[in-house]
Amino acid sequence: MRLSATRRHFFAWTQGLLALCASGGRTGGELKVDYYDKLGVTKIINAAGTYTALTASIMPPSVQAAVAEAAKHPVRLAELQKAAGEYLAKRLQCEAALVTAGAASGLTLATAACITRGQADAIESIPVDLRGLKNEVIVQKAHRNDYDHALLNCGIRFVEVKTLADYQKAFNAQTAMAHFFNAAEAGSISREDWVRVAHSHQVPCLNDAAADVPPISNLWNYTKMGFDLVTFSGGKGMRGPQNAGLLLGRKDLIEAAKANAMPISATIGRGMKVAKEEIVGMVAAVDWFLSQTDEGMAAEFTARANRIGDYLKSVPGLQSRIAIPPVANRIPHLVLTYDQARVKITPTAVANELRHGSPCIELNPATGQRNSHGVTGDEDAIVVGVWMLRPGEEMIVAQKLHEVLTNAI
Ligand SMILES: *Cc1c(COP(=O)(O)O)cnc(C)c1O
Repeated sequence: MRLSATRRHFFAWTQGLLALCASGGRTGGELKVDYYDKLGVTKIINAAGTYTALTASIMPPSVQAAVAEAAKHPVRLAELQKAAGEYLAKRLQCEAALVTAGAASGLTLATAACITRGQADAIESIPVDLRGLKNEVIVQKAHRNDYDHALLNCGIRFVEVKTLADYQKAFNAQTAMAHFFNAAEAGSISREDWVRVAHSHQVPCLNDAAADVPPISNLWNYTKMGFDLVTFSGGKGMRGPQNAGLLLGRKDLIEAAKANAMPISATIGRGMKVAKEEIVGMVAAVDWFLSQTDEGMAAEFTARANRIGDYLKSVPGLQSRIAIPPVANRIPHLVLTYDQARVKITPTAVANELRHGSPCIELNPATGQRNSHGVTGDEDAIVVGVWMLRPGEEMIVAQKLHEVLTNAI
């Protein structure tokens, strides 16, 4: 049997396509393998928020493209770090900037900077030998949190204060730094007083604002307020690479932080390497984030929340409202309550069903919690963090919630 030219062509094309599939999707010399599938790792729908254990965020397409492009070319790491820092400082209206391996790394490098500034020899000796170095960091007792370990890594000890009077008395010749936890829910000393008193003792102030954008302007609010160093997580609201972050602030202190960082090997920061892909990704994420508006983001997240709330209207006793936490994760979250006498399932049990369902959905951890880190504080509520959902996923969440809730009637 003779094949016509078009059929021959079609035949060759389909054979080629089959060969392509068999090769695992090799196109033009590029391999496209879904390693989550290959490794058997569950892809989740993130209706929680920017939680580290859930890989925090998805980079927007422009950031993913910048990372992929950066991966193709070797460069000099120190030159890239310097150029990125100068670009970011301009865009973020501060004296100087450093791309770190996340906000936790920013905390360590900031502390190392304040201990070792002006003493080059000290860089090699921290954290094991702090003889002759300032080793105290002042902090409000209510600001102590898990990330303190990042400061302790430098060998410092914390000096805790409660009142402004305590704070004024806490400074001595050993004071290296004053540390502020921006999203702390308690603590009586304001940011302004924190900075003013520290500066009257010529002591630099660090602010951990890791999860505190939006609003976008927070990227310069705290440096302009006088904090000498401010750190942000790159992979949370800014949607950069998860292992990137920003340390912003005074030029001499950023230089001192850099002296404690990679690519220099005998430093505390050497294990916090930031690869070229992450440095470029962080810069691209800042460009992306600055192209957004607070109003635009709030409108989009509110619209998603309303679509879910509307879909669930028929659930007995359903009330939906929007909650905006005060400092960290300050964006609209959806809070749902329902008549638990008629819908016989607790919010925690709903979260478990979604977690073990298909597709796997993670709800905000404030669901069913009284202590919810500023989100709601209602143990009878389901909380949906809508901001990290990919386009359209809110309807999958709505349908699944509807199914689980109505099955419990
Ligand atoms: C998330 C977070 C960090 C750590 O940020 P990474 O970028 O993951 O290192 C530090 N401090 C606070 C308050 C945070 O919320």
